[in-house]
Amino acid sequence: LEEQLRQSQKMEALGQLAGGVAHDFNNLLTAILGNLALVQLPVDDPARPMLQTVEAAASRASDLTRKMLSYARRNHLHVAFVNPSAIIGEVVDILRRTIDPRIEIRTDIRANDAVSMDSTLIYQALFNLCLNARDAMPQGGRLTLEADRVELLDGHPHPDARPGTYIRLAVADTGGGMTDAVKNRLFEPFFTTKSVGRGTGLGLPMVHGILKQHSGWVSFESELGRGTRFELYLPLSQETTTPLPPPRVEPAPTCD
Ligand code: ADP
Repeated sequence: LEEQLRQSQKMEALGQLAGGVAHDFNNLLTAILGNLALVQLPVDDPARPMLQTVEAAASRASDLTRKMLSYARRNHLHVAFVNPSAIIGEVVDILRRTIDPRIEIRTDIRANDAVSMDSTLIYQALFNLCLNARDAMPQGGRLTLEADRVELLDGHPHPDARPGTYIRLAVADTGGGMTDAVKNRLFEPFFTTKSVGRGTGLGLPMVHGILKQHSGWVSFESELGRGTRFELYLPLSQETTTPLPPPRVEPAPTCD
């Protein structure tokens, strides 16, 4: 328990630091990208490719800072009632057009409720899980996106779980799975097993931050050689979105 506490304090401190830096960088990048967009060069200008390189690098930096802001839970949420199956539909659309055709994409939608959420952020979270699933299946495999509705009672093992009704979105792959060493560090910012330029280690911290901002959470199961399944829990019922009541003060224990 002490180790868990230490770990979560470390994550919290890292989040604060990353969020502060990301916030300032984001403002600078907005100025850079905004001004770049205003520069008009003739098609044959030799500086054109350089400008495009600058723009590509600034866009990538902007993507990184956005992930850090999500991890640090510093997004301004734009909340509306959206049916998650619509978001899954959008994700599947772009995946079908862009990923290796040896990866079969399936959906299993069993919930049809609109959920109060920031759909752009939930889209980002789902999409990121799908890209990780793709990376875990370099020889092909099956990627499944699911939505269902679950009723949770008291005593769920996840520390952020509260009793109530949830929409659960899942992304499952038939890839290589993870070792215990990877599982233990999964949500640490900047932890990646991918090569430089391919992985940033900010994807899952971002997913964690986004779900936390929605009063939900993310959990996973993974088995080496068999695959991995990530689940996003989004609260549906009112009770789960209101803060927990203050803890009851127990009378001082007497000896037993
Ligand atoms: P990145 O994808 O940039 O490495 P993430 O935070 O998204 O950063 O993921 C961290 C690490 O978790 C990955 O480098 C990978 O080792 C592991 N991982 C995440 N998703 C999966 C998956 N579906 N299958 C196997 N390993 C995964």
